[in-house]
Amino acid sequence: MQTVQTINELKHIIGVNKEKTIGFIPTMGYLHEGHQALLNKAREENDFIVASVFVNPAQFGPNEDLDRYPRNIEHDTKLATEAGVDVLFVPTPEEMYPFESGITIQVGELSTKLCGESRPGHFDGVLKVITKLFHLVQPTKAYFGQKDAQQLAIIETFVNAYNFPVQIVRVPTVRETDGLAKSSRNVFLSEQERAQAVHLFKALQLATETWKKSKNVDEAIAKGKAHIVENTSGKIDYFAVLTYPTLQPVSEQADQLLFATAVFFEKARLIDNILVETKEV
Ligand code: AMP
Repeated sequence: MQTVQTINELKHIIGVNKEKTIGFIPTMGYLHEGHQALLNKAREENDFIVASVFVNPAQFGPNEDLDRYPRNIEHDTKLATEAGVDVLFVPTPEEMYPFESGITIQVGELSTKLCGESRPGHFDGVLKVITKLFHLVQPTKAYFGQKDAQQLAIIETFVNAYNFPVQIVRVPTVRETDGLAKSSRNVFLSEQERAQAVHLFKALQLATETWKKSKNVDEAIAKGKAHIVENTSGKIDYFAVLTYPTLQPVSEQADQLLFATAVFFEKARLIDNILVETKEV
């Protein structure tokens, strides 16, 4: 595996390999088995694999955890090598954003709910980096986790609306054995919080089961919220049910419903979700 830090080096490598199918996995590093699932799927489906590790300042708000976001490039290099990545792109912020163009990408309505509501500008920053990375890597397929369901919905819509020549591949959420979704931010949990954190998933399961029985969204949300309040010290940011990937209020026509929650613990804000196929219920 080659690790490259500059855009010029990356462009050169992509040029040399442009006849191959390229699988791309953008990440913020501190890689775990969730990321590994994306890398493995990409390895199965493409000739050449590019992954990136970049803690993107553009997607963090002023009071968020940019400075203390966990980093371990030695570990990431080892994991990416073992997963069969060909090129690991690890740029600095200066390399990615050498000048301020004054031109921005604004997500609009899809970013007014769920995480977008409490993280203004977050998804604009995600699309800023994704646009640059897609132009540089020119992937055939790019891999994203269902764990970040709103991000995935926005990227799918963006790529579709603006004709990016890439196929977006959804990868299911990888969980710890007790059900907690794997996340780089789980390291910020205290021992007590770690034990409680599984209740995000349990609350989502309770909400989906409730909805399957009664088809009553308000009842499902109320039960899910109550479960989190009763079983954790965390503060609920949101607990919501929306159509997917359109993120609209629940309607009869929707094929997929997203049950999603975000909870603030002392040093980490955790998110999780379950996607329900309505036709299978
Ligand atoms: P991040 O490094 O957190 O920006 O995540 C990079 C990619 O890995 C995103 O597409 C995430 O959705 C995906 N990802 C993170 N955690 C998981 C997980 N537990 N299961 C599946 N995909 C994940």
